[in-house]
Parts: sequence; C-alpha cells; structure tokens
Amino acid sequence: MASEFDLIARHFTRTAPGDILGVGDDCALFPVPPGMQVAVSKDLLIAGRHFYPDADPVSVGHKSLAVNLSDLAAMGAQPLGCLLGLALPSMDEAWLAAYARGFHALAQASGCPLIGGDTTRSLHDLTLSVTVFGAVPAHAALRRDAACPGDDIWISGELGAADIAYRLLDGQLPADAARLARTRRALEWPQPRLALGQGLRGLAHAAIDISDGLAQDLGHILAASGVGAELRYADLPRAAGLEGLDEATLQRALLGGGDVYELCFTAPAQRRDAVMQAAHASQTPVTRIGRIVAADGLCVLDAQGQALPHIPGGFDHFGGVA
Ligand code: ADP
Ligand code: MG
Repeated sequence: MASEFDLIARHFTRTAPGDILGVGDDCALFPVPPGMQVAVSKDLLIAGRHFYPDADPVSVGHKSLAVNLSDLAAMGAQPLGCLLGLALPSMDEAWLAAYARGFHALAQASGCPLIGGDTTRSLHDLTLSVTVFGAVPAHAALRRDAACPGDDIWISGELGAADIAYRLLDGQLPADAARLARTRRALEWPQPRLALGQGLRGLAHAAIDISDGLAQDLGHILAASGVGAELRYADLPRAAGLEGLDEATLQRALLGGGDVYELCFTAPAQRRDAVMQAAHASQTPVTRIGRIVAADGLCVLDAQGQALPHIPGGFDHFGGVA
C-alpha cells in the first residue's frame, strides 16, 4: 500500500512556478507583490454533506478549489497559491488520481499552484480542506461592508441551475433526466469569476459570492453595510433548464438556491457603463437586479411592484432551509 509520502509525491507534487517554494519543505514560500495585501480563505468539504461520495472525483477536485477561488474573486483578489488538507478514511488511488487531475487543471488554469498541504488517515468521512492565498492592492478589496444607498445591485451569470440539479439528485424533485442533464454542470463545475472580480476593483462598492443563496448572501452585505435592498424578481437571470418548474420551486431556486458561485456586487449608478465594460473585458455576463436602499431589510418586488410575501432564505448549516 502506498505511503503518505508516495501519495503526495505522485498526486500532489508539481513544480512550483517562478520564485515559489512549493511542496517538499516545512513551509511553502511565495513572494507578495509590493503594495498588495494577502487575501486568505479556507473551505471544508465533507463527503456526503458537500459532495456525493459517488460524484465524479475529477469534478470534486475542480469544485473543492473553485469554491475557494470564488472567495478570492469576491474580494477582487488574484490567486497566489493554495494548500490542500486531506483526511482519507481509506486509500482509493484511482479516486485520488482523478481528484488530483481536476484540482490541478483548475489550479493551472487560474494561476493558483498547489504549494503544500497535509495528508492524514481519517476515522470518519472523507474530508477535504482547501486554503487559498491571493493578492489585492492595499485598501482596494471588495468588502461586504461597503454598499451605499442608491447603489445598483448586480449579479454575474445565471441563477437556479445548481439548486435544481442538487434537488433532482437528492430525490427532492421527481426524476427528470433531461432537466438534470441541463443543470448538473452548474452544480459540479462552478467557474470562479476571478477576472470579473479583479475588473471590479475601484468600480464596485461591496461584493460577495453566492454560496448559500442570493437572499442570504446579499443579506450579509446588507447587515455588514447597515443598509437594505430592493430586488426585482423578474430581472433575476434564469439559467437554462428551469423552464416549466412550478413557481414555488423556481422562486426557491433563484432566491434561496446555493452552490451558485456567481458574484453579487453593488456599484454606484453613475458607473453602469464602466461595470458593463468590466463585464465585457472579463467575458462575464452581468445583470442589474435591484438597488440598495437606506431602510433595513430585503424586499423582492414582483412584476407589478408588489413585495413577495415570503423570501426563500437559502441554506443555513445549523438551521435548515427557510
Ligand atoms: P510536516 O510533517 O512538516 O507537516 P508533511 O510530511 O506533512 O510535512 O508534508 C511534506 C510536504 O508535503 C510538505 O511540503 C507539505 O506541505 C506537503 N503536503 C502534504 N500533504 C499534501 C497535500 N495533500 N497536498 C499538497 N501538499 C501536501
Ligand atoms: Mg504535515
């Protein structure tokens, strides 16, 4: 059976680019560009809770890094490198090799080399933890506490597909192979919006990536900034594959669905053209979906301008779905 060191050498050691000291010493070393702050984020993923144990391991490798890169994107940071923690209940070399393939492909594509980590035997479920390091010019990060009344609210990409795919796979919605085929990619292969996030520096006020649902994550911006928001339900960009769903399921997918990894950001109305240019330059579609208001709370308006009586609140690990 392969030792921990064989595994690391085979699957997780890659030549680090430039003047980075990667896997192999007690610590990794990387230079921080002058005038920049280091942005750091970490996520834990547990088999059975954050991904299906039988999910394609290449996609699990991709997603475990993608969700962290999405946090860098939401701060306007560029990736510097990442660490990988693995707690493995048993040694499935084929699974690990495929996992590493998905991980390294995204690491390379996004300029975020794997520079270290830790590997251990687990007595419980397979657990993965990724830490990313990024760089952002000092005081230019897109924080949650910077939204201002009058700002437009924008979202990148489209909403709802990952939630529907998840609910189909989980048996919460009746089996529908055609719909699953159209929505599954959004759940398993999220694309972190790194180029857009960096392009929004100096333009956007506040930003967040949508991991737990638009209503809940926008709620974090509102709470941190001490403001409220009005969203226009009809303007929420709908992913392909949502056609023909009942209205309650659709509302829940658009407003409460997690695993989206799109950026929700606010920007002054005078900067609409500049935001569109940043979107174009990063080849990322963006949609204006509402505005920040001074009064507390989140209000979602229907096409007639009436407030929705109930806003699906997304997922809370300790609370459950609202
Ligand atoms: P230490 O005992 O000092 O923690 P380890 O034997 O755990 O060192 O790790 C040896 C080297 O392999 C270190 O550079 C560490 O960062 C790296 N490493 C261990 N596990 C992983 C992993 N899953 N992915 C990437 N690098 C890893
Ligand atoms: Mg170690």
